[in-house]
Amino acid sequence: MPEQEEVPLARPVLGEPEEAAVIEVLRSGQLSLGPRVPAFEQAFAARLGVPHACAVSSGTAGLHLALRAAGVRDGDEVVTSPFSFPASANAPLFERARPVFADIDPHTLNLDPAAAAAAITDRTTALLPIHIFGYPADLPAFEALGLPIVEDACEALGAVHADRTPVGGRGHPAVFGFYANKQLTTGEGGMVTTADAAIKAQIDSERNQGRAADMGWLDFDRLGFNYRLSDIACAIGLAQLDRLDAMLAGRARVAARYREALAGIEGLELPCEDSGGNVRGWFVFVVQLPRGTDRDATIGALRERGVQSKPYLPAIHLMTFYRESFGHREGDFPVCEDVAARSVALPFFPELTEGQIERVATTLRHVLGR
Ligand SMILES: *Cc1c(COP(=O)(O)O)cnc(C)c1O
Repeated sequence: MPEQEEVPLARPVLGEPEEAAVIEVLRSGQLSLGPRVPAFEQAFAARLGVPHACAVSSGTAGLHLALRAAGVRDGDEVVTSPFSFPASANAPLFERARPVFADIDPHTLNLDPAAAAAAITDRTTALLPIHIFGYPADLPAFEALGLPIVEDACEALGAVHADRTPVGGRGHPAVFGFYANKQLTTGEGGMVTTADAAIKAQIDSERNQGRAADMGWLDFDRLGFNYRLSDIACAIGLAQLDRLDAMLAGRARVAARYREALAGIEGLELPCEDSGGNVRGWFVFVVQLPRGTDRDATIGALRERGVQSKPYLPAIHLMTFYRESFGHREGDFPVCEDVAARSVALPFFPELTEGQIERVATTLRHVLGR
């Protein structure tokens, strides 16, 4: 029997439109600070129905600039989720502010607004909820707490809140990421959306060494960074935006098929269903293994049978850097820890075939002995 090809965890949808877009930029000779940057920003903002968008070099860079724009400074506290990619917790530290964790909702896996409220002190200057795995965080509940909000929407392109606002379209600085496993990719890259023209101007300046838009070549009026996104990347982003609906539909199709194929495995928890009008923008398909299952052994057994998977996500507060810097330990955020200990990301991308989905599901069922 010929060996079956491994089912990868993620794979971007790329083709002729992206190739043509890149070649056009190369031939134009303007590889950066050119016309594709505002074109991509405007198309992205229009898609989300928000006035402004700022293209940046990564989601992490976007989080950094968005927190600066929200007024986060040395010594401040930012309340956020321990169940996220580490970038969201790291970003406050770039400004010598402290990420203060609060536990998550066991159903949506998003930051629990009541726990966040309890973590607020007189040093808290911003809230940083994450739309984890593309499921909309409860923004109205965070808005009621009356503090500036920066949204980590890096996993949530295509998600919609209960009131029909697209995630990223509520006006707070919201940050998207375009790494190759995201809903839309530019290789590396990110975008900050905002309704505030002053925040747009500040981020545009600070991503470009602190230059004001109307200033001469060597005049800088503030500290800045090089967090620019190239015209090559923006051209890829524009091509990807044209096919975003099809890619999102592909992810939703795969998720629906997984739900059918994985139904009835005792103790296995699937991603929460959309409820109350919230719509997930599918990013990953993460299952929680039945209690008592050896996760590492399960991942190893899947790998031996040609199915990639990974623990996703580990709890941030239990990572070595966070333990050593802030004295966190087991038991600090029990809901997050329970979820993080059982979570496994399965192969998930728009072009996953029926056969591959079937194979992943059958293999997982077999490995779990169900
Ligand atoms: C992908 C991601 C980011 C940003 O990642 P970059 O690699 O810097 O683009 C931030 N937060 C979350 C939750 C993410 O999934």
